[in-house]
Amino acid sequence: TNYIFSVLLLSCIIKIYRNDMHEKASLGLDLAQAVGKGEIVVQYQPQVDGQQKILGVEALVRWQHPERGLLSPDKFIPLAEENFLIREIGMEVLRQSCQLLQRWATDPVLKDKFIAVNVSPIQLDDDDFVAAVKQVILDAGVEPQNIELELTESALCLSLVEARKKIQALREFGIRWALDDFGSGFSSLGILSVLPVHKLKIDRQFLKEVENSESSIGLLRKILEISEVMGMEATVEGVETSSQFKMLIGLGCNSFQGYLFGRPQSAEQVTYAIKECAAT
Ligand code: C2E
Ligand code: MG
Ligand code: MG
Ligand code: MG
Repeated sequence: TNYIFSVLLLSCIIKIYRNDMHEKASLGLDLAQAVGKGEIVVQYQPQVDGQQKILGVEALVRWQHPERGLLSPDKFIPLAEENFLIREIGMEVLRQSCQLLQRWATDPVLKDKFIAVNVSPIQLDDDDFVAAVKQVILDAGVEPQNIELELTESALCLSLVEARKKIQALREFGIRWALDDFGSGFSSLGILSVLPVHKLKIDRQFLKEVENSESSIGLLRKILEISEVMGMEATVEGVETSSQFKMLIGLGCNSFQGYLFGRPQSAEQVTYAIKECAAT
């Protein structure tokens, strides 16, 4: 019986594995056509200051799949990175963001708001990355100063020297850079002195820790001090409650993102939200 059991178990595992492979392959085929079919949707989440005025927004990609509905990035970004489709998808997100900046450019309240766009390490690794980003911005005729590119620490597993060159080149073009999910990985502080970024985005996991440990508050205070010493802005991610917000204000923090201030939402909704908050 032991033998039969093992065989059954094994065949079961193989079945699950094959289903998973099949699932992935079919999703991959769909994804290859997603950009062309206009299924790549971008939502925008506000970033606010201490007065809860919206300073800018982060572009967050979704995939409007014909059968599966609206898929969040964790459902397809890893796949898109495996087969390099992330390069095309990433440029599509940048294009849509530039179109929104174009619309904002004619309005006095909207024209100096920024849009932050996430960049995958696979994109940064592309030799054409710098030229492609410039082209999209020039084609749209928008101010590079209103674009912020977010890079996660994992991106820096690639070649730091190469990454630095590309970051620098786009920085000279006028684009601002943020280091995303700071504090979540194995970040060495040394990276901050090597990479010319304007902003640290402190990972939301970090804020969670703070709730139940005094020492994390101390650490958070230090991170804020470091960003100040380095002349970088610091945005805290994942602010969900007003008690978290108050605590952060107490620490001298002045840039925030989280459900408390607004969920990721459509271009129309976020445009309305910015106008609304400027009017009050
Ligand atoms: P991220 O860049 O760190 O984006 C912030 C994520 O936290 C978003 O999840 C956002 O919806 C979520 N979030 C914001 N405020 C709160 C909060 O108060 N509480 C909680 N629990 N979550 C909050 P989302 O949209 O699912 O995106 C997940 C990740 O997918 C992003 O993390 C980013 O790494 C990646 N991603 C999103 N869009 C793109 C893209 O266009 N290109 C690339 N390469 N990656 C993207
Ligand atoms: Mg981000
Ligand atoms: Mg983040
Ligand atoms: Mg993240």
